[in-house]
Amino acid sequence: MTSAPIRLWDFHGGIHPEQNKRQSTQEPSAQARMPAMLTLPLHQHIGAAAEPIVEVGETVLKGQKIASANGYVSAPVHAPTSGKIVDIGDYPIPHPSGLSALSIVIETDGRDEWTSYAAEQDYTETNPSHLRNIIREAGVVGLGGAGFPAFIKLNPGSQKKIKTLIINGVECEPYITCDDMLMREDPQSIIEGIRIMRHALQAERCVIAIEDNKPEAYESICKAASGVEGVNVALVPTRYPQGSEKQLVKVITGKEVPSNGLALDVGVVCHNVSTAAAIYRAIRLGQPLISRMVTITGKGVKRPRNLEVLFGTPMDELLAQCDVEADQIERLIMGGPMMGFALHDTNLPVIKTTNCIIAATREELGVERPVMPCIRCGACADVCPVKLLPQQLYWYSRAKELDKVQEYDLFDCIECGCCSYVCPSNIPLVQFYRFAKGAIWTQEQEQKKAAQARQRHEFHQMRIEREKQEREARRAKKKASRPRATAPKAPPVDGAKIADKMRDEAINQRESAAAARKAEIQAALARVQAKKSASPKPAQSPDKTQKSAITKKDNPTSTHDDDQQVQ
Ligand code: SF4
Ligand code: SF4
Repeated sequence: MTSAPIRLWDFHGGIHPEQNKRQSTQEPSAQARMPAMLTLPLHQHIGAAAEPIVEVGETVLKGQKIASANGYVSAPVHAPTSGKIVDIGDYPIPHPSGLSALSIVIETDGRDEWTSYAAEQDYTETNPSHLRNIIREAGVVGLGGAGFPAFIKLNPGSQKKIKTLIINGVECEPYITCDDMLMREDPQSIIEGIRIMRHALQAERCVIAIEDNKPEAYESICKAASGVEGVNVALVPTRYPQGSEKQLVKVITGKEVPSNGLALDVGVVCHNVSTAAAIYRAIRLGQPLISRMVTITGKGVKRPRNLEVLFGTPMDELLAQCDVEADQIERLIMGGPMMGFALHDTNLPVIKTTNCIIAATREELGVERPVMPCIRCGACADVCPVKLLPQQLYWYSRAKELDKVQEYDLFDCIECGCCSYVCPSNIPLVQFYRFAKGAIWTQEQEQKKAAQARQRHEFHQMRIEREKQEREARRAKKKASRPRATAPKAPPVDGAKIADKMRDEAINQRESAAAARKAEIQAALARVQAKKSASPKPAQSPDKTQKSAITKKDNPTSTHDDDQQVQ
């Protein structure tokens, strides 16, 4: 059974490396053996590391949450089986840096006993935001290799209308076949997961994209999707890196995702087929993400195949299960040969982003060819799917001209390795780009730190100044309120008493002045009387004498003629 053909578009560049997929699809997938110990790093995804919520010595059940998401972009971690927590500490992790990170170690008890869980029987009756929360709590992240928390991509916001949900079954990188085997063996889980995602996104339509080098997977998915309304299956011509999100959006919808933009910006959401199956298990079975399909391949194993592996399982146990020839392994790679990275140890744990382990032999890797000067042939630009200028990026990265390299859109580079693959001078171009990106991030971190330090210093100075001013203000206030040491103590002021005193003084002054005047007048009268008595008495008319007497009697202080006469 095949799906009705849908229109496809083309993307720029790309290459056709040797596939090397057939080796690991010769037998059905199987369950990996339960190891004695599981080591679970708390950082298995994009975003902040989870925080442990268990303690050493605690017994846990399969599916029990042992570490909580720490922030919005983060994912919880669950116990992949029942057992006992024997350690929480730093352990080596599968990362290009080769560093260690905080991990929880479980000693498995072999009972594989599940914790109780609740399933959503009818998701169509469930609010999309509740569905997203279940997916988040189940620790589901993108299983295509990136590990971005899945619930975030299912939350486009009320402003964004999703027209197309693309389910990525392309798996374009050589050697990797885990998605291929899942599509062949369990297509129903994928289709059920797609139904849930469409409901959560309210997406108009869904297209499942599968490369034409996976005919069995295509047939299987077409059969499962038959009759499901709004779901189409697209068989796309095999070309690397078609599985990269921006390239796949172009192929399926004809739309270009803008530089520094997201598929969401053109009304598209992309999820991997394995993520769809994990979402189905989280919603319909109530099971968190505790395992995944992993391709174990390369000429270093005699029995390359796909295994369903519990997270935390040591890789060397998987290699043993695939009949490894340890002495033949030249390089152990996690991921594919194009975008994967070399591991420093075989005893590292499988995590959520481990889709493939390649035990590569010397023969497989080929003779290491010497690096030659760039001959400016332009082959790298011809194959770049992002239409960058890899040669210029190389020059500026090499010269550490970090501003220039950004002008040439370094951060649009998806590190697909097409340019390095075709370079006749064998220049490891992608390594230069990774170096430049790392240098820019370091520079930005340092600038950020310097800005924070400057801010802290300014704040410190402001605080010192403020404290100084406050001290001075306190001192001035204290000084003003303190009595002066040399000044006599002022008696308490009584206004009423002062007023009485002033009034008494005024009365006294007036009375003294009156008494003085009276005394003067009496003295003057006495002198006049004395004069009169001493001189012979002239003959006076009785009228005049009477008049004079009347005048003195009526006005003794008068200054008129009579008074002048007195003087
Ligand atoms: S392919 Fe290699 S040699 Fe040719 S231009 Fe690009 S970097 Fe230079
Ligand atoms: S690695 Fe970067 S520059 Fe090179 S082809 Fe891919 S996207 Fe272009």
